[in-house]
Amino acid sequence: MSEYKIKLAKRMDEVKESATLAITAKAKSMKAKGWDVIDFGAGEPDFDTPDNIKEAAIKAIKSGFTKYTAVGGIDELKDAIIEKFKRDNNLNYTREEILVSCGGKQSFFNLSLAFFEKGDEVIIPAPYWVSYPVMVAISGAKPVIIEEREDNGFKITPEEFSDAITGSTKAIVINSPSNPTGAAYTPDELKEIADIAVKKGVFLVSDEIYEKLCYDNHPFVSIASFSEEVKRQTIVLNGVSKTYSMTGWRIGYAAGPKGLIKAMTNIQSQSTSNPTSISQKAAVEAIKGPQDTVDKMVTEFDKRRKIIVDGLNAIKGIRCLLPPGSFYVFPNISRFLKKRFNGKIINTSADFADFLLEEAEVAVVPGEAFGGEGHIRMAYATSMENIKEGLKRIEEAVTKLE
Ligand SMILES: *Cc1c(COP(=O)(O)O)cnc(C)c1O
Repeated sequence: MSEYKIKLAKRMDEVKESATLAITAKAKSMKAKGWDVIDFGAGEPDFDTPDNIKEAAIKAIKSGFTKYTAVGGIDELKDAIIEKFKRDNNLNYTREEILVSCGGKQSFFNLSLAFFEKGDEVIIPAPYWVSYPVMVAISGAKPVIIEEREDNGFKITPEEFSDAITGSTKAIVINSPSNPTGAAYTPDELKEIADIAVKKGVFLVSDEIYEKLCYDNHPFVSIASFSEEVKRQTIVLNGVSKTYSMTGWRIGYAAGPKGLIKAMTNIQSQSTSNPTSISQKAAVEAIKGPQDTVDKMVTEFDKRRKIIVDGLNAIKGIRCLLPPGSFYVFPNISRFLKKRFNGKIINTSADFADFLLEEAEVAVVPGEAFGGEGHIRMAYATSMENIKEGLKRIEEAVTKLE
């Protein structure tokens, strides 16, 4: 029989396999074949989920808390999130202004489908988290990419934001601290962005998933907290994945205007329904329980951050900023582009990442995946020993380029 002809939906033109996954898959298969790959590609902490959180989940299972829950999350978790916003961000929300989802990623997806449509423009500063432009495009809206200049610490200026606004601009996405650059806005910089947003009526989407991963006393402030005026046109996205090493548990949350949260909850009710009941109980413990494991993780990340940045800058041809947040660095490797290895030209950051993987057995993610060509993203979510060995291998490998 001849093959059935699958005609995919037009929207799939916008939905490509992410380049991050491609390199991760290649690194995995090399490891499986016995290669000794050092992995800087991971987008998650390498620490285990703390025991008190695991215990809360086990208790939930044993007590039979294993059925459907309210679509937008159990009240106990919503209340814990409300307390967290009060405690950490000086923000007051009610239960109707909170939605718990299957990860921060689903929060953004719910938002996209509930809020954006054809004809809308959504401003996304680049380098960006790979999923933003795709999720915006799926909604039918147009992602408008503006460049964050490296010489401005991978941040946009108020002028650059202003200049990008048109009559169709619906929202801007702010991710501070950032994946992939680790950049973080100061409170003053955020305030300027908020002021423009209010003046021009542009909605703010603030992805604060790396809130707790700040270094050198960088003062984290939620953009929503500047005034009631800002808050009513802001949605804050956050979650437990990064702060508590809970990426596999799939719990994220959103806080924003009632009408929008209701619409996002309706999307969720017609797609996934509630996030896992067991994970919700674990998230209550994560948010309300002892926070000392977070401090320990931040202290360890900070040590690694300094070593990796110093090590990269010591390699001839690489320039790397010292980022104030997250667990990524985004070194500039553009000096190596157009160079050759074994006669083959390295044209792009993807070629460079390939070269490092094959020649040095080091996995990194090409910057082009994040709209940041000429760079690579390296997560320091791996042991100090691996970091030092990885740096040594990169240094050796790049001397072979001509
Ligand atoms: C990891 C991450 C998220 C959310 O991840 P979930 O596991 O879906 O909660 C959101 N935004 C950014 C920028 C991230 O890096």
